[in-house]
Amino acid sequence: PWHHACFSLETGEAIGGPALNPIPCYSVVRRGSRVSLGEKREPPQRSLGEVALPKSIVVVGAGAAGAAAVEALRREGYKGPIVLVGDEPPGPVDRPNLSKDYLAGTAPEEWIPLRDPDFYKGLGVELVLGDPAAKIDPSTRSVHLKSGRILEFGTLLLATGARPRKLAVPGGDLPNVHLLRTLADSRAIIAAVSGKKRAVVIGSSFIGLEVAAALRHRELEVDVVGPEPVPLARIVGEEIGRFVKSLHEEHGVRFHLGKKPSKITQGSVTLDDGSELAADLVVAGVGVEPRTELAEASGLAVDGGITVDAQFRTSAQNIYAAGDAARYPEPITGKPVRIEHWAAAERQGQAAARNIVGKGRAFTDAPFFWSQHYDVTLSYVGHSTAWDRIETLGSLEKRDYAAAFVEKDKIRAVLTVGRDATSLEAEAAFERGDFAALARLFSKS
Ligand code: FAD
Repeated sequence: PWHHACFSLETGEAIGGPALNPIPCYSVVRRGSRVSLGEKREPPQRSLGEVALPKSIVVVGAGAAGAAAVEALRREGYKGPIVLVGDEPPGPVDRPNLSKDYLAGTAPEEWIPLRDPDFYKGLGVELVLGDPAAKIDPSTRSVHLKSGRILEFGTLLLATGARPRKLAVPGGDLPNVHLLRTLADSRAIIAAVSGKKRAVVIGSSFIGLEVAAALRHRELEVDVVGPEPVPLARIVGEEIGRFVKSLHEEHGVRFHLGKKPSKITQGSVTLDDGSELAADLVVAGVGVEPRTELAEASGLAVDGGITVDAQFRTSAQNIYAAGDAARYPEPITGKPVRIEHWAAAERQGQAAARNIVGKGRAFTDAPFFWSQHYDVTLSYVGHSTAWDRIETLGSLEKRDYAAAFVEKDKIRAVLTVGRDATSLEAEAAFERGDFAALARLFSKS
């Protein structure tokens, strides 16, 4: 239920996203057969010793990866100046919530900022908002902000994330057509639904479906339009796709599958089969593209994402990249991947931070994401885009289920419903590259 948050058993420190705060830690005293709790322990103060450290660190992008990175830098004992440059008030936000409880109206806005405004002051991090990075110059090691301010850096981390794709159809840029990435976007959808009856969601992938659920909670009629015959089937297979579809249908969502929009007006969406759906508002969830423009303009290697190595180093010295914008070698296959998950972005930011301060090691964390549909949460760990078969345990109807995505006889990803322990064991096995342990999880004997 904590979305694979990872804490140190010895110190209580939050060492793997999505956890940011430590858990209380007590010394434990064992006398004979009795175990008693001793004193509460404070997280250790780390120091970085004699390693050559950057004089200053600039992080561009105050999202999941950037926010986790600045905290990890301080936790590891980096004491030099850090500037976190964002482009999105009010600073780092709990982005996954923007399509879930917040959009549904069941989470207050005060839950959305990841940290309160004074947090970064306390951490000794300058948070710059409303003055985005306009250019980076690797030769002079400087970041030029839109205002003309120049930030010199010893080391730079690019954590610029991704932006939603726009709908490339006539009317796709009308004011009643919404995209969803930021708190402002989520607020705009909430404002637009007030007093309205019908929403059309274009895109039947995770975010589109979460938006559909949230808008149903607000009692709008919701039509979902998607190009594939079964939602999510390309990613998680037909059985799970049909299950998720049925959850939405039970809650009154109407699907129009195998179809694309051909035209949008202020009050309607026309589909490519000529049918027309009434729409007071339209929300498009048709994928994202990595924000690589700063990296590209400054000559960094970019190939469908900013190219980084297993320590998140880009092709330019002293410049790192992490999160949705970065393409890194997947630990097991070594093939470059770009992952678009919250906890994965945080962990990449944390790993980049450790590498920046000389605690480098290759990144072996398995990607993990979750997606929530009414009272059902899907957890997915690993990475498989080319599975040739799916092995399953348990029952989706009973919400007690695990699916293994198998490529050439090796399990590459595991999806669970109601089986968090299996998901965690799979994560640990992926990190060890232990395919035998993964196979044991799915052996039915
Ligand atoms: P971001 O969080 O996008 O942060 C990048 C930041 O960089 C942004 O604030 C941007 O404004 C800033 N930036 C970009 N360029 C500049 C510049 N030039 N100057 C200054 N700042 C700049 N993942 C899951 O695993 N589970 C979920 O349930 C889930 N739900 C989601 C729901 C929604 C609505 C969305 C949009 C995403 C969801 N995700 C989910 C995906 C997850 O949020 C992303 O993978 C994650 O936020 C990526 O982190 P990031 O730091 O790479 O990018």
